Amino acid sequence: MARYLESVCKMCRREGMKLFFKAERCYTDKCSFERRSYAPGQHGQARGKVSEYALQLREKQKVKRVYGLLESQFRNTFKDADRAKGITGENLITLLERRLDNGVYRLGFAGSRVEARMMVTHGYFRVNGKKVDIPSYRLKQGDVVELVEKRKKEEKILQNLKSAERHPAPEWLTIDKDNMKGTVSRMPRREDTTLPMHEQLIVELYSK
Ligand code: SF4
Repeated sequence: MARYLESVCKMCRREGMKLFFKAERCYTDKCSFERRSYAPGQHGQARGKVSEYALQLREKQKVKRVYGLLESQFRNTFKDADRAKGITGENLITLLERRLDNGVYRLGFAGSRVEARMMVTHGYFRVNGKKVDIPSYRLKQGDVVELVEKRKKEEKILQNLKSAERHPAPEWLTIDKDNMKGTVSRMPRREDTTLPMHEQLIVELYSK
């Protein structure tokens, strides 16, 4: 996960939506956003006219934060999305979804994308039988993501899988809890993402 100096809960409040950085806590009434859903700071509750540029910038920041990327990583993903066939905004979201750390989170092995990233970099997973410790690794149809043997009984991961029952894996992923692995059954589509994102604003921002 890229490092931000701001507290993660403040990020949710700034972006005006829950970004689910804190695993279990995000689903309880301890969630800061549930208690104060306005932006942090002295002017957090002030409402003013927002420029088009500010809207585009805010949306880019939000999506970048959801997936935990730094600006350069996010822009490189955008470039790939722009080069690929199809609609750039949709390509961007599906490329972000295909990141290994996101796949690990969406399968339920991790309670948040931050945790998923940590697990990947610490070598918790094999992809198609080979150890992969690169969070940005791009999953493709047929890939099998499996916990390494020594991690399969870890209490925290078992708990994460239990908690994930409230946000089951998306259709493009199939989880096999008995064997602690997941398969990419098809490539993700734009509609598979659950958070509201207005990717066209990001395309407009980067097209200036
Ligand atoms: Fe966001 Fe989770 Fe903090 Fe709530 S608890 S504000 S969803 S990070």
